[in-house]
Amino acid sequence: MKQLLSVVVSVYNEEAVLEQFYLEAKQVLECIQWDYELLFVNDGSCDKSCEIMSRMAERDKKVKMISFSRNFGHEAAMIAGIDYSRGDGIICMDADLQHPPECIPEIVEKFEEGYQVINMVRTKNESAGLIKNLASAAFYKVINVLSEVHFEHNASDFFAVSRPVAQVLKKSYRERVRFLRGYVQNVGFRHTAIPYEAGLRAAGESKYSIRKLFQFSINTIVCFSNLPLKLGIYAGLMAAVMGIIVLVYTLLTRGGAPSGYATIVILNCFMFAVLFLIVGIIGEYISILFTELKDRPIYIVENTKNVE
Ligand code: UDP
Ligand code: MG
Repeated sequence: MKQLLSVVVSVYNEEAVLEQFYLEAKQVLECIQWDYELLFVNDGSCDKSCEIMSRMAERDKKVKMISFSRNFGHEAAMIAGIDYSRGDGIICMDADLQHPPECIPEIVEKFEEGYQVINMVRTKNESAGLIKNLASAAFYKVINVLSEVHFEHNASDFFAVSRPVAQVLKKSYRERVRFLRGYVQNVGFRHTAIPYEAGLRAAGESKYSIRKLFQFSINTIVCFSNLPLKLGIYAGLMAAVMGIIVLVYTLLTRGGAPSGYATIVILNCFMFAVLFLIVGIIGEYISILFTELKDRPIYIVENTKNVE
C-alpha cells in the first residue's frame, strides 16, 4: 500500500492564485511515490475562492475542501486541516505560492528517512519588505530571551508533520490564543529543517498587516513566557533599593537633602509609568486567560467537499 500525503492549504480570498497553485502543486504531487490528498481549508473567503475550489473538488477527487462559517484566521485553518487530514505525512502550506510546491519531494524524502517534524526555514523573504523582516528578526530575539523553549529563527508556517505528531496536535495544544509554529518546534520527535527561499506572492495581496503581526507577537510572548508577569517583583525591588538609598542619604545629611520640585515630579512620573506598564502586562495575561476560559470553538465548519 502506498503511503498517503496530505497537503493542507489555508485559503482566504485567494481567487487570484488558486488555479495557478493547483496546477503547480498537482504537477509536483503526481510525480512523487506517495498517494496524496490536497486539502483546502476555506477560511471564510468572500471572493470567488470557494466556487473555484468547489469546481476543482468536483473535477478531481483528490481535492478536498473544508469551508468555515466565517474567517477564523490562518492558524485555525491549519489546525482544521490537520484535524481532517488522514495522511501518514501532513504538509501545511500557503496558497500564494510563497511556499514553493517544488519543496514537496524533498519533504517526502525526509519522511522516508524517518523524520517526524520538518520545519521549512526561510533563507530569504523578498515580499516581506524591510520593516517586516526587521520586526521578525527582533521578535525571534525577544522570544528566545523570554521563553524557556527555543524558537528557530525564520521558521515559517510552512512545515510538515508525521501522523503521530498530528495525533498530538489533534488532542493537545488546543489553545485559543496560540502559536502553532512554536508547538510544532517543541513537540520533540525526530526533527529536521529544510531551507527554502520565499519568493514573491504569485498574485493577490498579503492578509497580514503590521498591526496584526504585532498583536500576534504579543500573544506569542504571553503564551510562551511567564517572565513579563514577574517584572512587577523586579520593579518593586528596584524601587525599594532606591528608597533605602535616599533614606540613608537623608539621614546622613541630617535632612539636609536639597528639596527639588523637578526631582519629585520626574520620579513620580517614572514610577507611575512602571506601575501602569506592569498593570497592562497583567491585563494581557488576564485577557488571554479569559479567552481560554470561555472555551469557544477554534473554528466552525459549515460544509465540506470530498471529505468522509
Ligand atoms: N490566510 C488564511 N486566513 C487569514 C489570513 C490568511 O487562511 O485570515 C491564508 C492565506 O490565504 C494564505 C496564508 O494564509 O494562504 C498566508 O497568508 P498571507 O500570504 O497573506 O501572509 P504572508 O505570506 O504575507 O505572511
Ligand atoms: Mg504569503
